[in-house]
Amino acid sequence: MMLYVSTRGHADRKRFCEILLEGLAPDGGLYLPERYPQVDDATLTRWRALPYHALAFEILSLYIDDIPADDLSALCRKTYTEKVFGTPEIVPLKPLEDGLCLQALSNGPTLAFKDMAMQLLGNLFEYELARRGQELNILGATSGDTGSAAEYAMRGKKGVRVFMTSPQGRMSPFQQAQMFSLQDANIHNIAIEGVFDDCQDIVKAVSNDLAFKRKWRIGTVNSINWARLMAQVVYYFAGYFQATKSNADKVSFTVPSGNFGNICAGHVARMMGLPIAALVAATNENDVLDEFFRTGVYRVRGGADTFETSSPSMDISKASNFERFVFDLLGRDGAKVTALFGDELARAGRFDLSARLGEVRDRYGFASGRSTHADRLATLRDTWDRFGVMIDTHTADGLKVAREQKQPGVPMIVLETALPIKFAATIVEALGREPQRPAQFEGIELLPKRVTLLPADAGRVKDYIAAHCG
Ligand SMILES: *Cc1c(COP(=O)(O)O)cnc(C)c1O
Repeated sequence: MMLYVSTRGHADRKRFCEILLEGLAPDGGLYLPERYPQVDDATLTRWRALPYHALAFEILSLYIDDIPADDLSALCRKTYTEKVFGTPEIVPLKPLEDGLCLQALSNGPTLAFKDMAMQLLGNLFEYELARRGQELNILGATSGDTGSAAEYAMRGKKGVRVFMTSPQGRMSPFQQAQMFSLQDANIHNIAIEGVFDDCQDIVKAVSNDLAFKRKWRIGTVNSINWARLMAQVVYYFAGYFQATKSNADKVSFTVPSGNFGNICAGHVARMMGLPIAALVAATNENDVLDEFFRTGVYRVRGGADTFETSSPSMDISKASNFERFVFDLLGRDGAKVTALFGDELARAGRFDLSARLGEVRDRYGFASGRSTHADRLATLRDTWDRFGVMIDTHTADGLKVAREQKQPGVPMIVLETALPIKFAATIVEALGREPQRPAQFEGIELLPKRVTLLPADAGRVKDYIAAHCG
């Protein structure tokens, strides 16, 4: 049986469908599977030949044993279609220079990689809620892409409402229009007077109020949700299979990173035995993660030190999913994780694991780099001039760092996390031309907007939720 544990060491062990609807563990920790299933050579060989939905089913089956196989298979088949994701490969590689390619993860409904997990989550939620005869109110925080991906995955789904907080005025006009133009009755946009971390703190505060959470059936779709991470593990395998001919080959991945969700899925894939050489975290000027991987010191930033950049989906001051990796690094010792994340961070705003840095790099394969606005512009221009390929600003951060970190003889895959149309202003600044806009998004900025403005106050958000349920 596959059971899930909290990174803070709570004694409970839970099944997948319990944590699917739950979010944070009762002790404030994040859920992880009790062990990582191991994938052997014969299995890798068998999986190479599978279409994406079947690969997803195989991997998910290792982590989910409380949904009948036929149902899970049908959910994967329904989720990962050419119609929704644009190509039969779902996540095709796009070669650039020798040994370096992009993996296209951004051809879903909202043009960012978060659709890869969220579309599955929408179908899983609807399935499980119907099975239980229950409803769920999803509370989320977004600086852009999570919110729209969640709303497009949940719109019109039976038994689900979405309450999505976002920092007022901090998303691109296109991102705002994507979210605020949705008129579905089960979708609620809440703009918060603050930064992304205020939104994230509100979600945590509401989720930690267990009575409120139970009464209003609050769930989450933030990247702390294990099901999202698990869904993301699949495309690391799919990318690996496309880039290699034999299981003896290794590849590296560079991942434009913020909350450490995407790259944490890479860590899980590597722990399962996927032959990944390096996992490279690329940050923008908000370099909490790059600092950690260079120095071993994890230091969260205050709101005033959190910069508004041209790769805004990576503008974070702390990386929520990082706790999952630290749990593994510290031998899955929940007491140690609680001491660091529960106590030291609250007291000192930092902790020091520099004594483990060698292990972080050698045993777990992590590396990192940082990219600035000037780097993004240069990388956007260079990629357009040399290859005629237009990338987005987050992918540009990844590509810049990938070139620095690439090792001879090891293919480097850069995860393409969004399409350029989402961040048009910077594309125009770099290239002097507008990115192409998919037909379904023509003129969305002009559509009527559905959004409520609230102060950065968890109490006010609770009142809003209570007034809009049922
Ligand atoms: C969410 C997001 C990221 C950061 O991903 P994490 O899982 O938070 O590290 C990077 N790029 C884009 C475009 C995103 O939407």
